[in-house]
Amino acid sequence: MNDTPGGKQAFETRIDSYSEPLTKPFAMKQETDCVRSDRAKEVFEKGIIETKEILLSERPTRRIAILGGCSFHDPHGADELTDRLVEFKREVENDWVIVERINMLKPRTKETTKDDWAGYMRDPRLDGSIDIEFGRRQGRKFYLNVLEKGLPIATEYLDTLTPQFIDDLISYAWIGARSACDPMLRPMMSGVTAVAGIKNTLSGDHTQTINNIQTVFTPSHYPGVNHSVEECKVNTLGNETAHPILRGWEAKPNFYAEDLKEIGAMQSARGLPVAVIVDTAHGHCLTSKKKKSPNVQYDRVAEVLTLMKQASDDPYSHHMMARGIMSEINLLEGNMSLQEYRENPIKGMSITDPCMAFDKFREVFLKTWYG
Ligand code: PEP
Ligand code: MN
Repeated sequence: MNDTPGGKQAFETRIDSYSEPLTKPFAMKQETDCVRSDRAKEVFEKGIIETKEILLSERPTRRIAILGGCSFHDPHGADELTDRLVEFKREVENDWVIVERINMLKPRTKETTKDDWAGYMRDPRLDGSIDIEFGRRQGRKFYLNVLEKGLPIATEYLDTLTPQFIDDLISYAWIGARSACDPMLRPMMSGVTAVAGIKNTLSGDHTQTINNIQTVFTPSHYPGVNHSVEECKVNTLGNETAHPILRGWEAKPNFYAEDLKEIGAMQSARGLPVAVIVDTAHGHCLTSKKKKSPNVQYDRVAEVLTLMKQASDDPYSHHMMARGIMSEINLLEGNMSLQEYRENPIKGMSITDPCMAFDKFREVFLKTWYG
């Protein structure tokens, strides 16, 4: 235990040690490789403007597709996926805004250094060395590279510090099913620059989902840090784009008309945007064995797109509320464990949730939407 002037310290008894202070957000953003170029700024801002417009207009002509891996761990594989998505964007951009999903934080339920991993910005070397500084710096560089290639970026936030490092690069941010009710993350989301999604919780309760959306929609005041990482009171303006990401739950999917009708009525009664994004993975692709199967995901993509397409012809359909999809895709189908990856790394294979293969996803997408 540490000594204090008054004698033995009787607090922080379970903190083993503190590292040296990490580089502060403002300083990192000024490092040569981490500076945002004009091109990157333009793509980032356009990503916000376009997704916001689709979510907030009554009858948008385009839809949003947030596409990418469950998690980011390998810059080479992810770079190749970005190139494919850039080509895909060219194919569909008259009808779709493509946003790359790049998650560098993961909400693991148990965290050990062995087989559970909290994401690239926590443990970029995948070995339990927890080099947060390296993860943030390399992560920021990767995001900049994607913006340079012309794609806006979506990511999940899991703490209130990481946004300080990347808020100038993320056009669409969300909080996940496990953190949708979090008393720190919701007010933080009310102040992010990005368009704000909030997943439905694991219980799938619509009232809870709408309460969470309303908290993000509303201005807030919370104890946080500024760009110099000094503690302060953060006063937010509220995020007028706050909307649910419907990801289903164990009991059933929640993108059908009756769910949208109920959610839409609640959004409208509270003055919230009447819009949702549909996640085609997670609770929407659990099989009877509760395994998340990529095959179910292709079917879900086809099903959700078919409903959205019908809504484009019928403006009174409840599926008009579905302004986009979020899908988990990678170069290769399926997943492998972190342990397997360490022994035999395979480029383009997920090390968290199983993903759809980009090529097959593209085929299903184009066939369903364009016939
Ligand atoms: C995810 O998007 O990879 C994820 C963990 O989703 P959810 O929060 O819906 O479980
Ligand atoms: Mn996932």
